[in-house]
Amino acid sequence: MLVLGLGAGIWALGWVMDVAPRRRLVALAGLWAAVMLAHLLLPEGNGLRSALGGDARVWAVVGGLAGVVAAYVLGLSRLRARVAPVAPIAADAPFRPAELDRYARHILLREIGGPGQQRLKSARVLVVGAGGLGSPALLYLAAAGVGTIGVIDEDRVEGSNLQRQIIHADARIGLPKVQSAEIAMRALNPFIEVRPYQRRLDDATASLIADYDLILDGTDNFDTRYLVNRLCVAAEKPLISAAITQWEGQISLYDPARGGPCYECVFPERPLPGMVPTCAEAGVAAPLPGIIGSMMAMEAIKHLTGAGTPLRGRLMIFDALYSDARVIGAKKRPDCPVCGLSHPVA
Ligand SMILES: [Zn+2]
Repeated sequence: MLVLGLGAGIWALGWVMDVAPRRRLVALAGLWAAVMLAHLLLPEGNGLRSALGGDARVWAVVGGLAGVVAAYVLGLSRLRARVAPVAPIAADAPFRPAELDRYARHILLREIGGPGQQRLKSARVLVVGAGGLGSPALLYLAAAGVGTIGVIDEDRVEGSNLQRQIIHADARIGLPKVQSAEIAMRALNPFIEVRPYQRRLDDATASLIADYDLILDGTDNFDTRYLVNRLCVAAEKPLISAAITQWEGQISLYDPARGGPCYECVFPERPLPGMVPTCAEAGVAAPLPGIIGSMMAMEAIKHLTGAGTPLRGRLMIFDALYSDARVIGAKKRPDCPVCGLSHPVA
């Protein structure tokens, strides 16, 4: 009774003084050791020994049982610590085995390999527009393992989008397009970060561009296209811009900071309102944005990994009706009001 009382006193004192349970257990083990020593060393009939109660064998059994319980609890807590959820890893952290397996066919390519895949993982790409061109571009950037993908669009998914905007789904009609796109990209690749911005890209949101390494523009209105070009030139960010109508599409990489023209060098005259019909007015063949949007993702991967020859200073025009692809040279204009002054001809 004396020993049990002492033990309870030690535990209660430790609790009051906020001593960690592990330390209180150590104190109890010390008490047990003192009792054992008293039983083993003091002569039989000693007053203290009889006051402690029991004998050496009883106390050895008590100590052994307590030791087994302590070992079990300790083992359990270690096991729990081991299966605790892992924190999300940084973009420059090494690949996990599941990622190596996922990107194995990229890593096999001589032009990409492990270093190229690592560049994709640390890259930050902003896609303007989650429509026809944005759909395949976003899906392929996600599948390819681009680490951070921003998507900006103010619209909501409509039924008439689904003939070509394959990142969305019938069940997501009415949702913001950026939210629908995020759902599809996360379902495809949980190892990437998606940043949705449900708004229009304008001067107020221009600072977004500074957060990204590469911008892809697949919007279908000229105001946004010229604005994105101006913002990219000012921030010295490379821009992959594409456009489609009916059966034809075009795409180029505009990067005057590293040579080549900007979008406005190539298309200096903004078409008069109504002269170039939008897809909503003139129609568009369903797979055409799939082809050109996939080319945008392809050029993005080439640019980020340094593979091949980019479309810098070259404009690719694809005519689906005649199955014809042409590439024409595009020059920087020294008198370009956007890139001519701040970036003299390279
Ligand atoms: Zn220019």
